[in-house]
Amino acid sequence: MNTKGSSYNHDWKKISAALRKNQNCAICGEESFEKKECHHIDFDKQNDAPDNLIVLSADCHTKVHLGTLKLPHQMEAERTKITDIQERLADVNKLIAPYQLAYVNVADCELLKQNAHYMEKEMLDKLTSNIS
Ligand SMILES: [Zn+2]
Ligand SMILES: [Zn+2]
Repeated sequence: MNTKGSSYNHDWKKISAALRKNQNCAICGEESFEKKECHHIDFDKQNDAPDNLIVLSADCHTKVHLGTLKLPHQMEAERTKITDIQERLADVNKLIAPYQLAYVNVADCELLKQNAHYMEKEMLDKLTSNIS
C-alpha cells in the first residue's frame, strides 16, 4: 500500500509479522497469516506506535485505503455521533410537539371550514336546481 511517508522503518517487517501472528483482521476476523496485513491507522508508514497499528485482511485493508470501509473505532465514533444527534432530535421533537399539535389543529380547522363551505355550496346548488 502506498501511503504517506517515504518508506517503512527497518524493523517494520518484524513488527508487522508479530502483530499478524497474534491478531486477526479487526473487521472480518480473517485468521490466515498470509492473507493478513498490518495497517497504519494514521496512514503514516513510519508511525509504528502500537495504538497506530491494526491487523486487517488484504481485502479489508484495500477497502480501508479506498475509503469504502471504516475501522471499528471509526464506526464506533460514528455510532456515538448518530446516537448523540438522535438524542438531540428527540429533545427538539419534545420541544416542538405542542406547537406541532397547534399547527395541525389550525390546519384541520381550515380544512373543515373549506369543507363546510363546499358542502354549503353543494346544498345550495341542489336546492336551486330543484327549484328551477
Ligand atoms: Zn494501510
Ligand atoms: Zn478483513
